[in-house]
Amino acid sequence: MEFKKNDICRVTIEDIGTDGEGIGKIDGFTLFIKDAVLGDEVEAKIMKAKKSYAYAKLEKVLTPSPFRVEPKCQFHKQCGGCQIQAMDYAKQLEFKHNKVRNNLIRIGGLDAEYVDSIMEEPVGMETPFYYRNKAQFPFGKNKEGKIITGFYAGRTHSIIENTACALGVDENKVILEKILKYMEEEKVAPYEEETHKGLLRHALIRKGFATGQLMVCLVINGRKLPAEDKLVQSLLEVEGMTSISVSVNTEKTNVIMGKEIRLLYGKDQIEDEIDGITFKISPLSFYQVNPVQTERIYSQALKYADLNGDETVWDLYCGIGTISLFLARKAKHVYGVEIVPQAIEDAKENAARNVIENVDFYVGKAEVVLPEKYEKEGIFADVIVVDPPRKGCDEDCLSTMVQMHPKRIVYVSCDSATLARDVKYLEEHGYKLMQARIFDNFPQSVHVETVCLIIPQK
Ligand code: SAH
Repeated sequence: MEFKKNDICRVTIEDIGTDGEGIGKIDGFTLFIKDAVLGDEVEAKIMKAKKSYAYAKLEKVLTPSPFRVEPKCQFHKQCGGCQIQAMDYAKQLEFKHNKVRNNLIRIGGLDAEYVDSIMEEPVGMETPFYYRNKAQFPFGKNKEGKIITGFYAGRTHSIIENTACALGVDENKVILEKILKYMEEEKVAPYEEETHKGLLRHALIRKGFATGQLMVCLVINGRKLPAEDKLVQSLLEVEGMTSISVSVNTEKTNVIMGKEIRLLYGKDQIEDEIDGITFKISPLSFYQVNPVQTERIYSQALKYADLNGDETVWDLYCGIGTISLFLARKAKHVYGVEIVPQAIEDAKENAARNVIENVDFYVGKAEVVLPEKYEKEGIFADVIVVDPPRKGCDEDCLSTMVQMHPKRIVYVSCDSATLARDVKYLEEHGYKLMQARIFDNFPQSVHVETVCLIIPQK
């Protein structure tokens, strides 16, 4: 069977790709069809054909899948955020569980039966919407020249106008409308990527779910906004407004935030609370976006760490010290390592605020700080927790971890492909994956968090 561009075909969706696309097969030829749901029978148009596979566009759902649901958001197809909103939530969880399972088998080189025996029940959300405490909104103009804000369409930088995303908090809409009104009135031009002209690039909005505190940080291609006090006055009408700042970013870059923050109103951090520990969060610090699931992840990490109060623990990629402080309550001492200096400042402040004294934090790359400390100071660890960004752990970091012979490694991962790669390394160096569990921190999207327990082989 062979297909060419513009051919129309009929196919039943049997699988889901890593980006949430439906996968169907016709005589061994594979079709990837965005927006088709597992179980759908569809008509699709071939857009790009290779020898054994093709990307096709969904033309018509002939027989809808039993797993199809009515999406909450009318923009779910165009927007890059929710790839699987049309899929029943229980099915989403099953998909994510299988994605991690398959990566552990395929990339991690583990036996399928073994993986099935160690993976625990997925942990999903009761209400899988309105869970995000943070969003970054780009500004631009529509065809009529009106200033708009919303989200980038999948894989592009064209903006879909939407101030009421179904994943975010209600306050986003109110705040964004105030910013748009201010821009119109003060003639603030939205930033244009192609020409590197215009002033307002993005608005970062963050909310502390436990405290109700709100932070707005406007990223600008310049030093100053016109009539800043007018903007502040308008934003202060929103209940909970605690921090208003600008971040200067005059670079030609995809990176959203600039390095410098200038406060316009209030405090330079907002607070949130997880399980009785309060956290201060700066605009530039990483903080988990889904507080409900985060608490569950941290509890799982604590369970896998199995602390009795005598342990020395290293928390690598510690951000503002959230996991470190969680663990410190049950450990002898916790050392945190993090690359962003501002986050480490927050971490230290958070430790002090919560009167947690058995912690130390270091700024630097985990793969540099850990080997250095190990070689020069002969540091020790009973337990090592890692929570790296998507690219996973650097090999220098993993090899030092192995040399330190911890009794337990707890790996918190936001990308199961790099998790599986790192598990493979650890398995080849005397460790064994004992337990794994997925947490749905990002319902409606294809992303998933995994927490694993890894211990020395007998
Ligand atoms: N454990 C924290 C943060 C996890 S996100 C939490 O649960 O909130 C990953 C963190 O790793 C980010 O804060 C990022 O700034 C940091 N990071 C990225 N690369 C790093 C590296 N090479 N060494 C140390 N930290 C790094």
